[in-house]
Amino acid sequence: MNLTGKKIAVLGCGRSGVAAARLALANGAGEVCIFDSNPKATCTDATLSFVAGAGEQEAQAFAADIVVLSPGIEADIPWTLAFTCAGAPIVGEIELGYHFFKGRTIAITGTNGKTTTTALLEHVLLQAGRTAKACGNYGYPLCELAMLPEQPEFAVLEVSSFQMETIHEFRPEVAIWLNFAPDHMDRYTKVEDYYNAKLRVFENMSSDQLAIVRAGENLPGLKPRIVEFSSVVNTGQLYYKNGSIMEGDTAITQLRGTTLEQAHNAENAMAATLACRAVGLSDESISAGLRSFCPPGHRCETVAEMDGVLWLNDSKSTNLHSTEAAVRSQTRPIILLAGGKDKGLDYTAINPMLAEKARCCIVFGQIADQLEGTFAPVCKTIKVETVQEAVAAAATEAQAGDVVLFSPGTSSFDQFTGYVQRGECFRNAVRTTLNL
Ligand code: ADP
Repeated sequence: MNLTGKKIAVLGCGRSGVAAARLALANGAGEVCIFDSNPKATCTDATLSFVAGAGEQEAQAFAADIVVLSPGIEADIPWTLAFTCAGAPIVGEIELGYHFFKGRTIAITGTNGKTTTTALLEHVLLQAGRTAKACGNYGYPLCELAMLPEQPEFAVLEVSSFQMETIHEFRPEVAIWLNFAPDHMDRYTKVEDYYNAKLRVFENMSSDQLAIVRAGENLPGLKPRIVEFSSVVNTGQLYYKNGSIMEGDTAITQLRGTTLEQAHNAENAMAATLACRAVGLSDESISAGLRSFCPPGHRCETVAEMDGVLWLNDSKSTNLHSTEAAVRSQTRPIILLAGGKDKGLDYTAINPMLAEKARCCIVFGQIADQLEGTFAPVCKTIKVETVQEAVAAAATEAQAGDVVLFSPGTSSFDQFTGYVQRGECFRNAVRTTLNL
């Protein structure tokens, strides 16, 4: 990508925007300015040109040659489009960083499991003595990585559907497709739009590159080579059985007793295994890396085990698919705590599994009424207002041998600033209730 002498408008003054602006300046751009629509926005780098509260007038006056979009900003809103008035293309921060990053790229997408798999891949590569950095949607901009004087061998890049909307030539060496389920219906009008945006991760790949895909996913004919994994069926290159990752009849990694033993995490582990193999790691070093991994918090993390009851915090569950995965992964009778903001999702799909595995559902938050109506026909359901009340009800209902699974299945913004605050609220409520 030739930036020499170009006028670059960077939209969004967060960490990605600042990194993109610095990268553009370091690579010969003629003029770079960061724009933010929020009048109160501030820029952390005072050396960069920055306009807060920018409107369409400023956008048109700047007449950019290239518009670089930060991940949080939508590509098709009038504010963004105003910057393209002189015919400038919109380039995502990932696309820009991709052109200047000198290492190899492994991309991870899916509705759920991206962050866990990204962290896992970085961990396994580092443990094996390779250099790697988890980045992208993970929280570390690819443009920042591309600016490091010593770049790692691998960018382990978590990519969201939104980030894939603004790629042009982005072509990872390996792309992982973990799963797909309806989500983000507050941003997309049709599920197809969300699916098609995600699918773009494969768009520029050819048979020289590798797609690692969960068996049974409904994907069109892909151009890259495909290998599959599954925790549901014994097909695919790798599958999961009796706590082990299997290849044919051979157990290649024992996950029982590790942090990845639940079925959905075993899927993340299989995807990471296939990616690490593809870039040259031995099975021994991959197994060692998988077995020493400590996942990020709020993802089916154990909070307590008391009087035979296991308490799990899965606050990061913000859609039905992740709750379904968490329920599917449990081997004990479940007390499910679910609820939060109304995102327009339909929860009936989970009913057969609840009928089979849950002893009780405790529902809370804005969608408590809807969930009560959905779950009550198949399972004892108790409605409460808050997470604290849900924990108190769970302590009354739980019997030795049960798991209390806090897997809300929707976002937290009706009562919390995000899943972290919600998960901390659950942890604290459990500790107080159990006198820990
Ligand atoms: P993402 O970055 O895609 O949101 P996370 O790793 O943060 O993924 O996990 C989000 C939620 O999905 C958590 O509730 C976690 O327990 C669950 N989860 C993790 N891996 C998977 C998977 N492979 N399939 C389904 N759910 C998963």
